[in-house]
Amino acid sequence: MKTFTIKTAWNQYGQLMGNVLGHDRESLEQDHAQYQIVQPAASVKDYMWGLFNRMLLESAGDFHTQSMLYHCMAVFRGIYEGKSGKQYNQLSHQASLDKIRIDNESSRLVIELKVSPDPDCPHAKSMENKRFPIETDLVSMLANESCHRDFCRCNILGLAKRDEDGNLLKK
Ligand SMILES: [Zn+2]
Repeated sequence: MKTFTIKTAWNQYGQLMGNVLGHDRESLEQDHAQYQIVQPAASVKDYMWGLFNRMLLESAGDFHTQSMLYHCMAVFRGIYEGKSGKQYNQLSHQASLDKIRIDNESSRLVIELKVSPDPDCPHAKSMENKRFPIETDLVSMLANESCHRDFCRCNILGLAKRDEDGNLLKK
C-alpha cells in the first residue's frame, strides 16, 4: 500500500483544498500541525478524511465539486487504504447526475446521458457507445457488482441529442 504524507495530500488534492477551503501549502501544514497537537495518535490518512468531510460540508449544493470530491475519496480508499471505494464512486456518479439534471432544466436542448468509461473497466466499456434518456438510473447500472474494481475513473456525461440527420433536438 502506498504511503500518504502531507506532501502527498498537497500534490494530490491541493487544487481542491485551495478552491474549497482556501488552503495553500503553508496553511495546510499549519492546520495539520494543529491537528497533530489535538490528535497525537491520528495518522495523515485520518487527517485527510477530516479534510474530505470538511470539503463536502463547505461545498454543499455544488454538485460538480461534490462529484469530484467523492471521486477523490474513492481513489484514496483504493490506493492508500487498499479497500473498495465503490460506495464513493456511487456518490460521485449521483452528484454528476444531479448536476446534469439541474443544468438540463435551463437548457433548450434535449439532453441525454453517456458513459465515459475507465479504460480498465470492461463493465463500463460495454456501455460506451450507448446513449441513455436523462432519467436513466446510471448510478446503479455503473457502480454495481458487475464492476470488480476497487475504484473506477468512469464518468457520466450529459450530451445534447441529435436526430438521424445530425440536427440538434430542441425541447
Ligand atoms: Zn468499473
